[in-house]
Amino acid sequence: MARPVILVVEDNRDNMILIADVLSSLDYEVVQARDGEQGLALAQQSKPDLILMDLSLPRMDGWATTRELRKLPDFQSLPIIALTAHAMSGDRERALQAGCTDYISKPINLQELARKLKQHLQLGEDNS
Ligand code: MN
Repeated sequence: MARPVILVVEDNRDNMILIADVLSSLDYEVVQARDGEQGLALAQQSKPDLILMDLSLPRMDGWATTRELRKLPDFQSLPIIALTAHAMSGDRERALQAGCTDYISKPINLQELARKLKQHLQLGEDNS
């Protein structure tokens, strides 16, 4: 079976390196986007199995990018997990309202990340 493809939309370079390393070590294929517009383009090109979406992004933020993705037929039920700043509970509410499936607080707990990826990828399989 092909490795699951995870699209990571994250403008912070250190976070991107950390996340990409962890995902590679878990045997996921990683596609990297550094702003919302690139995320939207790469989502359509790479057909990911799951998207990790930073919310605070240049050009098009994570909420707007998620809303745009949800308008597209291929992305209506795809798991999109928001990466939110720790103290900002309002951000989480807005992320769910924008169409995100779930969220992970920053700083990212790597065990939580691994667990949520597995959980949402399995849910996606069950529904197909
Ligand atoms: Mn950011």
